[in-house]
Amino acid sequence: MRYRLGMLSLEQARDAILAGITPSTTTQTVPLAQAHGRFTARELRAQVDNPAFDNSAMDGYAVRAADLVAAGFVLPLRGECRCGGAPGKLAAATAVRIFTGAPMPEGADTIVIQEDVKLEGDKVIFPKSAQPGSHLRRRGEDFRRGDALYHPGRKLSAYDLALLSAAGVAEIPVYPRARVLVAATGDELAAPGTPLQPGQIYESNRLATLLLLRELGMDAVDGGTVRDDPVALRAWLKSSTDYDFVITSGGASVGDHDLVKQVFGEIGAIKFWKAKIKPGKPIAFGRVGTRTHFFALPGNPVSSLVTFKLFVEPALIAWHHGVSRLPQLAATAANDFRRHPGRTEFLRARLVAENGKLLATALRGQGSHMLGPLRETNGFIRVEADSAGFRQGESVVVVPLSTEF
Ligand code: AMP
Ligand code: MG
Repeated sequence: MRYRLGMLSLEQARDAILAGITPSTTTQTVPLAQAHGRFTARELRAQVDNPAFDNSAMDGYAVRAADLVAAGFVLPLRGECRCGGAPGKLAAATAVRIFTGAPMPEGADTIVIQEDVKLEGDKVIFPKSAQPGSHLRRRGEDFRRGDALYHPGRKLSAYDLALLSAAGVAEIPVYPRARVLVAATGDELAAPGTPLQPGQIYESNRLATLLLLRELGMDAVDGGTVRDDPVALRAWLKSSTDYDFVITSGGASVGDHDLVKQVFGEIGAIKFWKAKIKPGKPIAFGRVGTRTHFFALPGNPVSSLVTFKLFVEPALIAWHHGVSRLPQLAATAANDFRRHPGRTEFLRARLVAENGKLLATALRGQGSHMLGPLRETNGFIRVEADSAGFRQGESVVVVPLSTEF
């Protein structure tokens, strides 16, 4: 792999990462119910027409429109069509009782809903307003047998699986979940529940990364905490080549004890290690061995969350042959924000929908070590590299992190 050092713009960094991903080549087949959130590995085609046969959209009476007119809108009732029954036959100049979803009897072309008729003995009195061809669902009007419903790389939602189930698909070839090993690095890191020694802090990035990976449907494995020691880091990294991805936090910068980049560079090949973004400038991406992609994310908690969203997420989706775009919406700034231009910045923000419009508040405390504002964060405000900020009321671009506005 080619070494590429220096500062990349956000878009260059995302492109470089996508270009550096070798997508999964293996597939597995799973039953429909286990395919939720998985990425399909083949084109998925309908096995049946939908609707499978002409049927009634309402409870009512099936007739031939021409009979209605000829018989003065009064027809004798002869028989019934139920759901699950084979399609019956409509005798000339009669009406058949029918229920929603029941097959249209042969010869019928119109449904009149039950609310619109009167019954007198075995006679049905129809309204003159009855419209020929109404309340019918036509075979194949939704999709036809053989239609390509999904293309490879589609992440399957509950809606998608409902459609596939209706289309008679029982098993789905999918890409395996990426196996992702996650570790935190740093001599200062302690686990919650243990007393803090002087100079220690409680670790938070590893848990967040593991949980974000699981939310994305990945097979995330906890690789523990590794010390700022080249021997330990080397040993840990060498034992990680069974994974599709390795993600570390911390030690990715250029400090004396920031060894991750150095050790990754020795054992693997680093593709780039700085992106012109804030927070999250020190980030490395590359490969260990032929299979394992690695990300060295920054140690500051907010930086590791932002870089996960900007870089790791699209990489994982690309590995599953999917296509992702950073979701971006227009919003109105609810407060002022001023800064020195230079890097593309992502501000933790509170997004609120008001009268159909999105209002974005840049939260107080934008330091990348500050976790407190995460309580209110449901999106980022994107500030372009050459921008000096924005004023209240101006339009800004936001990246939503949730749909709960
Ligand atoms: P580093 O990237 O290793 O230089 O770390 C930058 C800052 O992030 C330092 O203040 C670290 O103590 C902190 N940090 C590093 N790793 C973690 C972690 N896993 N959880 C919380 N804070 C961390
Ligand atoms: Mg460190």
